Amino acid sequence: IINGSNVSEKPRDRLLGGLLTADFDEASCLSRYQSSLYRKLSPYRPSEYLVSKLRSYEMLHKRCGPGTKAYKEATKNLGHDEDNYANKSAGECRYIVWVAVYGLGNRILTLASVFLYALLTERVVLVDQRKDISDLFCEPFPATSWLLPLDFPLMGQIDSYNKEYSRCYGTMLKNQIINSTSIPPHLYLHILHDSRDGDKMFFCAKDQSLIDKVPWLIVKANVYFVPSLWFNPNFQTELVKLFPQKDTVFYHLARYLFHPTNQVWGMVTRSYDAYLSRADETLGIQVRVFSRRAGYFKHVMDQIVACTQREKLLPELASPGSEPTNTTNIPKLKAVLVTSLYPEYSDNLKSMYWERPTSTGDIVEVYQPSRERFQQTDKKIHDQKALAEMYLLSLTDKIVTSARSTFGYVAHSLGGLKPWLLYQPARGKTPDPPCARATSMEPCFLTPPTHGCQAKKRTDSAKIVPFVRHCEDLRHDGLKLF
Ligand code: GDP
Repeated sequence: IINGSNVSEKPRDRLLGGLLTADFDEASCLSRYQSSLYRKLSPYRPSEYLVSKLRSYEMLHKRCGPGTKAYKEATKNLGHDEDNYANKSAGECRYIVWVAVYGLGNRILTLASVFLYALLTERVVLVDQRKDISDLFCEPFPATSWLLPLDFPLMGQIDSYNKEYSRCYGTMLKNQIINSTSIPPHLYLHILHDSRDGDKMFFCAKDQSLIDKVPWLIVKANVYFVPSLWFNPNFQTELVKLFPQKDTVFYHLARYLFHPTNQVWGMVTRSYDAYLSRADETLGIQVRVFSRRAGYFKHVMDQIVACTQREKLLPELASPGSEPTNTTNIPKLKAVLVTSLYPEYSDNLKSMYWERPTSTGDIVEVYQPSRERFQQTDKKIHDQKALAEMYLLSLTDKIVTSARSTFGYVAHSLGGLKPWLLYQPARGKTPDPPCARATSMEPCFLTPPTHGCQAKKRTDSAKIVPFVRHCEDLRHDGLKLF
């Protein structure tokens, strides 16, 4: 409720500390300038250097983007007679194409990673629009387009690119056919959970000496590879200037890039205004169940209750006979936003707080927007609901998320929230402790390379730079910025 409720009284920072330009038409994408109405004033400011880098990126994108002379020039010789490419010019612009694969959380994390790599290497990011990306997000770059044109010469081949593809960088390394004197017009980067170290380490200085000259990079990724970019000393120098607060990388990039379309934003604001805006405190709980037979499990329900009570995120129930009669304190209204594919977790929580009073007298209201039951990636309305829910979670005051879930990572990082992470249950048991508070709000790189750029094979990649360490939810694995 823009005029009337407490939303309008919050101090505003419409352009997010200069992160956003004022150059867009507001009505075409309401979330872009309205999101600040729904958030607390951010304690994290983007650096001036990041802001200036984004403005120069926008100029570059405008100069090289679809429909420009430069784009035409760059695509002219692509896809046919590439073997005789050596003497041909691809023009002044270089590109990186992001291909939509895996779930929405994965996609958001990888697009942010690809964008950061593009910022560091002065490439132009274009996104594969054949999936529902434009039903989810507005255009982030002014006076141009981030959508890869449908008549892009390699469009017909992209889906078949995999580890076996002859222009897959890791495969070329393995087959020792890297030749820095002949630069291919395009390369495929395979940065998935099953990648080899050779694929994952494309950012190292020795790899960049070739890759940097290739006009077109096509990427399929499902991991947040940002933490590993710091292993390249050249990038590191830049990154420290861009992000003096190291655990704000995704936070700023996501707020710059990902503006939900009006349709999704309507879902976000209707939920917020109906269920969250009047509460004294809000808590988000994201429940992701990864076991093969997914659904409702008592041990997961017990874990949610154990975590929220132990960490004092929700009040305990009054024991029978000792219902609070003391009403000197004004009871607080706590709104709990639950997101899950399954409805049972929030149904149970709701019954729990309806059937018995709390020991504090506080009122707990439980709300779950959707109940999709199973993942239906690429179905428009399903993906829109998923995005609306990630975004809503990011608007809560405190958040509990599930270990290893990129859906949860997006929600807490976008919100600037250090989550309580529900450990992944093993053998059908409630983990003890049930959850732990994260010390950084960044997403985790779930399947990082085993070592750094210079290091020998067995050097732990969490020991290379002091602020890149293992993730809290994986204990001795993953990489994350702190
Ligand atoms: P991850 O698998 O947890 O890392 O997250 P992803 O977002 O990559 O993939 C899971 C997909 O399942 C989501 O994109 C949604 O399509 C669906 N999904 C999982 N959890 C939820 C949820 O809480 N709400 C909704 N609406 N969809 C969900």
